[in-house]
Amino acid sequence: MTETKTAIITGSTSGIGLGIAEALTGAGYNVMLNGFGDAGEIEAIRAGLAKRTGTEVGYHGADMSEPEEIAALVDHTRSEFGRIDIVVPNAGIQVVSPVEDFPPEKWDLLMRINLFSVFHLTRLVFPEMKARKWGRIVCIASAHGLVASPYKSAYVAAKHGVIGFVKTVALEGATFGITANSICPGYVLTPLVEKQIPDTAKARGITEEEVKRDVLLAAQPTKEFVGVEQIGALAAFLCSDAASQMTGTALPVDGGWTAQ
Ligand code: NAD
Repeated sequence: MTETKTAIITGSTSGIGLGIAEALTGAGYNVMLNGFGDAGEIEAIRAGLAKRTGTEVGYHGADMSEPEEIAALVDHTRSEFGRIDIVVPNAGIQVVSPVEDFPPEKWDLLMRINLFSVFHLTRLVFPEMKARKWGRIVCIASAHGLVASPYKSAYVAAKHGVIGFVKTVALEGATFGITANSICPGYVLTPLVEKQIPDTAKARGITEEEVKRDVLLAAQPTKEFVGVEQIGALAAFLCSDAASQMTGTALPVDGGWTAQ
């Protein structure tokens, strides 16, 4: 078993998860990547991170909507690294639709990926964290875990749910050296946001440029997108011993959005 602490980061083949993988490997942790994408590109990401940082980096393609695949990810990480100290449930999708037209099967899928997977991953690693008396659960929620926007009913419900779940496991882990926190990003220009621009334009009857300016960045007083490296740096801090007394929090990184 390696002495180096190991992190599972779900949805880390792209966007925020990849930014967190950069930060955690940069801080010296071994990382198990997860997410979808082209096999060759994922292998290039995995090998590049390992080479740049001198840490061990693995990959498992578990689908976060399937509990048995989440279990397979955990088993694979244990067999590759021998331990799991940190989990970063980050995988997520967005579906934009007025509530009356919201396809029920898409509501269910979003809940399974964005909320239920956080429960499954946590329940599977909690006993090991308790036994070792150290653990870090860093969930990527959203400013939409704190406030709502129209046409995002499933996403807003799931992210509010994540924050409640994290508070609960923070209490359950408090005397075992386990911390659990939610990071609540505002808008980060990742593929997830880029993909929802056409749907938002359609739902609101405006152009895609207007969506960026008048819908997305309208919410952020700084008028700037949040950077993935900024989320990564906060995740790395929450994993450090300096953050051992921070638990049960929901931390906005949103350019002032939720201060309004
Ligand atoms: P992204 O689309 O760039 O990346 C999502 C990642 O999740 C990818 O690696 C993708 O392959 C993976 N993924 C999707 N479905 C999956 C599944 N079923 N199983 C396993 N992996 C799956 O998105 P992002 O913007 O980096 O989002 C990451 C997280 O951050 C999400 O939970 C999202 O809700 C949250 N978030 C994003 C923003 C933003 O503005 N981009 C803001 C707040 C919160």
